[in-house]
Amino acid sequence: MQHDELLIGTMLEGKARWVAVRTTDTVEEARRRHGMSPVATAALGRLMTGTLILASSLKGDESITLRLLGDGPLQGVVAVGNAQGEVRGYVQEPLVDLPLKDSGKLDVGSAVGLGELAVSRSLQNGEVYTGMVPMVSGEIAEDLVHYLLTSEQIPSAMLLGVLVEKDYHVAGAAGLLIQPLPGATEGDIQAIESLLGQLGVGISELVAQSQSIEEMLDQLMGQLPYHVLERRMVEFSCNCSKERLSDTLISIGKKEIANLITDGKAEMVCHFCNEHYQFTLDELEELWGRCGME
Ligand SMILES: [Zn+2]
Repeated sequence: MQHDELLIGTMLEGKARWVAVRTTDTVEEARRRHGMSPVATAALGRLMTGTLILASSLKGDESITLRLLGDGPLQGVVAVGNAQGEVRGYVQEPLVDLPLKDSGKLDVGSAVGLGELAVSRSLQNGEVYTGMVPMVSGEIAEDLVHYLLTSEQIPSAMLLGVLVEKDYHVAGAAGLLIQPLPGATEGDIQAIESLLGQLGVGISELVAQSQSIEEMLDQLMGQLPYHVLERRMVEFSCNCSKERLSDTLISIGKKEIANLITDGKAEMVCHFCNEHYQFTLDELEELWGRCGME
């Protein structure tokens, strides 16, 4: 059986690099966990896929957080990824439903809206750097390309796609990034552009039809030879735990915990993976005892 993975490689005789990722199972797990509508699934799926691509160049336990702060009905889309191929994310309003576009495609741009794209990198030393750029279309791939060009001065071509079935299941999800490297000529850049311009089918249809990520790449790359340097597993993975949520409860303070204790118990939900954690009265009293004086 096929599994989700990310491949990194070169093309045009080393004058361009590419990152390709299959995220079909990862996006399906996000859809199932959050109970998302098709357009919410497509928006979060594209952002999670783009996040994995950007995260693939991080080191060690660094992570990257992408936030689409658009004025559309989804009211925000967030994804966090790392170089180990782990990604998690959520949309503020998972049930948003919009009419399809004239092309028959899900209207991700209208669901996300326009606003700011915030990209935060958490480095190994604990420092966090955040860059903000205005969104171009809310269709996400274009927005990430614009971010890479304006914030990092890297010209890129990117495809992100999520194919949602009528029964809401994710049939295919994938992404491709191509970046010219120093030494690339105008002709090389044109070759990349015409390659992506020629694609009749979307990348999500291609990944759904392909038996392997190489089969998808063969179709995407057409006549251009490419070289695979590295491959990594990819999965939906959240780092939440009861302990982490306990720390959050302690940080919000004695008064809030005291309020929870009046109810006799409490439930905390992780935004990123929708996991529910139950706290008993005894546990809440123990956390209350660990709070500092106020
Ligand atoms: Zn979680």
